[in-house]
Amino acid sequence: MRTIQFQLGHLGANCFLLYCEKSLEAAVIDPGGDPTEVLAVIAREKLTVKYIINTHGHADHIAGNEKLKQATGAAILIHAADAEMLTSARHNLSIYIGNSIQFEPADLLLKDGDVIRFGSVELKVIHTPGHTPGGICLLANGVLFSGDTLFHESIGRTDFPGGSYSALIQNIKEKLLSIPDTTKVFPGHGSETSIGWERRMNQFIQ
Ligand SMILES: [Zn+2]
Ligand SMILES: [Zn+2]
Repeated sequence: MRTIQFQLGHLGANCFLLYCEKSLEAAVIDPGGDPTEVLAVIAREKLTVKYIINTHGHADHIAGNEKLKQATGAAILIHAADAEMLTSARHNLSIYIGNSIQFEPADLLLKDGDVIRFGSVELKVIHTPGHTPGGICLLANGVLFSGDTLFHESIGRTDFPGGSYSALIQNIKEKLLSIPDTTKVFPGHGSETSIGWERRMNQFIQ
């Protein structure tokens, strides 16, 4: 699996293009702004994008969904508990930042334990509510995409509607710290880290 990282949108959320080097099948995680540069790489590498996966439904992670879907025909996937955030500018908070985003419903709703396959890549869905009710992390080949659940030495905000500090902490401890220490972590914002580093250094989960 190859991973290419972009920063899209005015909040600079991390977007990831993943692909199987053999089949050239691909998925995009969290296109949170204009995906023009992602589309350029997709064309250059001749990739077939099967899925657009949102780690959760906040505007800064979904804003590029529609344009990317129109250009690639990929299916949009989000956890069932965040489904309404795609279709409601109030739920995805975009209405409060003066740039309303309202899309069609997702093509497929995810739940904990689902496995998303493209080429030889398998992405396991780990439901980690707390930042939002339908927040997920995605685990593949020693790499975790942690959305706004776990950041480098920090955690996601829990003061938005549907947030829960206790749920977030519990999910990180039970579902993420049980993953091997060597697992690389790519968060939804900021720099990469690892499970081992966060186990030792993240003050929120000691
Ligand atoms: Zn968020
Ligand atoms: Zn975010």
